[in-house]
Amino acid sequence: MQQQSGRRVGIMGGTFDPIHHGHLVAASEVQDRFGLDEVVFVPTGRPWQKEHVRVSPAEDRYLMTVVATASNPRFAVSRVDIDRPGPTYTVDTLNDLRESYGPGVELYFITGADALAAILSWKDAERMFELAHFVGVTRPGYELSAEHLPRDSVSLVEVPAMAISSSACRRRVVDRKPVWYLVPDGVVQYIAKRKLYRNGPVDPPR
Ligand code: ATP
Ligand code: MG
Repeated sequence: MQQQSGRRVGIMGGTFDPIHHGHLVAASEVQDRFGLDEVVFVPTGRPWQKEHVRVSPAEDRYLMTVVATASNPRFAVSRVDIDRPGPTYTVDTLNDLRESYGPGVELYFITGADALAAILSWKDAERMFELAHFVGVTRPGYELSAEHLPRDSVSLVEVPAMAISSSACRRRVVDRKPVWYLVPDGVVQYIAKRKLYRNGPVDPPR
């Protein structure tokens, strides 16, 4: 990424194990709503909230994210979190992206209702709100609220409802059910080619 100022950049962080249409619709909707120049998908390295659960290799999650976003000229994928050693904290993601885009960039961190509810427990939460504007998006099964968060730092956006989660996709692969139309076609093929998820274990949906 070259140094660019005055740009509005969305950040979609996630484990993306695998990436699915809920992630993609949320990013597309926020891109449109805020007139973002681009949305960068950032697969986590070792997610600190998921330390006790099994997560697919970072390289597989990164490649699925690349496959899923390749056709959208406004979507990009960053390796900052998978290339940084140790657990992934969003405050580090924001610092690194701010540095690579240079001064003047406006960052919009996109997060689903479930993640937004827990955000104050994230490392250096106050600093995160200085580094980026937060955009909470609706997600079926979760209540979207920003009452616990600093007023001017968060916007709420309703996005088309996709009752899809990565955990449910993994569970479907274990159960030999299709994941067609829940994840992009290329991701269906990638999961089969790399034999991901087939042998579990899978974690309960969250
Ligand atoms: P898992 O079930 O493994 O936790 P997930 O489907 O929740 O996977 P994550 O990678 O954990 O996906 O989520 C990344 C981000 O995308 C989070 O901010 C999450 O809230 C948001 N998100 C995930 N699925 C949806 C969805 N269907 N609609 C809106 N936002 C979503
Ligand atoms: Mg999740």
